[in-house]
Amino acid sequence: MSTSVESFADLGLSDTLLQTLTQIGYETPSPIQAQCIPVLLEGHDLIGMAQTGTGKTAAFALPLMETIDVKLMKPQALILTPTRELAIQVAEALQSYAKNLPGFHVLPIYGGQSYTIQLKQLARGAHVIVGTPGRVMDHLERKTLNLDNLKTLVLDEADEMLRMGFIDDVEWILEHTPEQHQTALFSATMPEQIRRVAQKYLVEPREIKIKSATATVAAIRQVYWQVSGMHKLDALTRILEVEDDFDAAIIFVRTKTATVELADKLNARGYAAAALNGDLNQQMRERVIEQLKSGALDIVIATDVAARGIDVPRISHVVNYDIPYDTEAYVHRIGRTGRAGRTGNAILFVAPREIRMLRTIERATRQPIAPLTLPSRADVTNKRVAGFKEKVAEVLNAEGLEFFANIVSQIAEEQNVGAEEVAAALAMMAQEGKPLQIAGEDPPPARPMRGDDRRQASFGERDEHRPRFGERPAFPDRGGDKPRFERPRDHEDRRQRTPPTGDMVRYRIDVGREHGVQVKDIVGAIANEAGIESRFIGRIALYEESSTIELPAGMPSEAANALKRTRVRGVPINLRPDEGRPDSAGGERKFKKKPNY
Ligand code: AMP
Repeated sequence: MSTSVESFADLGLSDTLLQTLTQIGYETPSPIQAQCIPVLLEGHDLIGMAQTGTGKTAAFALPLMETIDVKLMKPQALILTPTRELAIQVAEALQSYAKNLPGFHVLPIYGGQSYTIQLKQLARGAHVIVGTPGRVMDHLERKTLNLDNLKTLVLDEADEMLRMGFIDDVEWILEHTPEQHQTALFSATMPEQIRRVAQKYLVEPREIKIKSATATVAAIRQVYWQVSGMHKLDALTRILEVEDDFDAAIIFVRTKTATVELADKLNARGYAAAALNGDLNQQMRERVIEQLKSGALDIVIATDVAARGIDVPRISHVVNYDIPYDTEAYVHRIGRTGRAGRTGNAILFVAPREIRMLRTIERATRQPIAPLTLPSRADVTNKRVAGFKEKVAEVLNAEGLEFFANIVSQIAEEQNVGAEEVAAALAMMAQEGKPLQIAGEDPPPARPMRGDDRRQASFGERDEHRPRFGERPAFPDRGGDKPRFERPRDHEDRRQRTPPTGDMVRYRIDVGREHGVQVKDIVGAIANEAGIESRFIGRIALYEESSTIELPAGMPSEAANALKRTRVRGVPINLRPDEGRPDSAGGERKFKKKPNY
């Protein structure tokens, strides 16, 4: 493992929080947590270079929770996030860490949500606000959010906020917060503008960076499956079924709770599986490993700590069911396979928002990790049928077959059917409870993940289908797995101006190139304020004084109203249906230059 800190108790957290962490199944701190938590508890400002999947949320959330006075129903911490998705996710995490803190209240506020509801929620009070910059700024301006009691300010995914064009809003918020507070800035990368913001607003910050040590991992086939359209458990069993050289597997998850849950689920599906976690004493641990060696168990579901040092040659597969915190953990995990000169297989599940970690691992191991196409229903059926045929072929060579052949002839004669039909009936009996065909649909093929673009990847990124904290139905309808709208072309599409296609409507907005606006600023604002995922946003054409943008038809009035009030680079966009002529923008205005298609 990459960190020498073994326990949360070493980091200076309170007993209440330690108890909560045990309850939610966190065994050991991740490297970023081990380094950040003591620094933040000491009250220092901090720059943390970490990305999603490293456990950075708990790294800032746990120390922040220690400072909250629950009796004071005023915002004492503000966390800024680039997207509403992340705001909700962070709020959920905080709520789970507040398990033993009765009365604790965290409020996510983001664009696209009704103001009426938000105002009510703000009036009711909250200890922590997690919000997107535009909306937070708005509430500060309207004085519906008061930060006089602020103790902690966190900028989460600062580089994403920059990329989405929110950096001016972030700076505005930093300018309008009381001076006396601790500030933590987290960013996966450190572009110049973020560094400048850090220099200007953070006081003697400690800088913490998780090293990604390079390592070679030879003789192991490495693949990843992009989590989408199907529950991870179903995907796992499909994959394991069709893997050719499957013998035994270690499956890595993050929490103790998850080891037990997954072991139970796999047992229920007929696998010989057991959990291996820090709750097991040495004797129980050795027993599990012995059983894996002897073949009494085929699958062990483990946390990083519990799997340390396991050396079982028959482990043909390592599955990273939950992505590891860092590259060292990855290298350590996959080193459990490919032992004693055998070939090994490492399968990594990657949610779209974890794509950065995948790329980091690839860079650190200097090896590409190939995408894995999820086996189709037909693949699984073919595999099962092949196994069935093999078994039958074995029995055909067995002794004593004549006795049964006789019975088959008798049945055929008595039932007046052919031997083939009798064989089919027997096969059916033999497979009772073990169907050769699997139920359910094949998921649609996953959309390719481009680089590090989290906005592109936001649809279906949740790996477990559970309702989210504070969530309301997104627009467009995300009820099913399939998007309601066809994926429009790239925002940067500069082809001939044509009427919007299908379900899209073209709107005009009052910001253009003369306001210093770029396409990404518009996408960011619309995505957050109207709750429209960026992939549903169609072509955007920038003109001097205005721009046009294609949005899905049937926009709810709430979203339309939110967009009327939205500002980009401080300019109200005044969204309205486009009249059709580029130079008709803003009434009498004329374009100084040709439109920028
Ligand atoms: P993050 O990088 O903050 O998005 O965290 C990624 C995931 O790791 C979340 O599902 C967390 O609940 C989980 N997680 C964070 N820290 C720990 C830990 N110390 N032990 C187990 N799971 C953790």
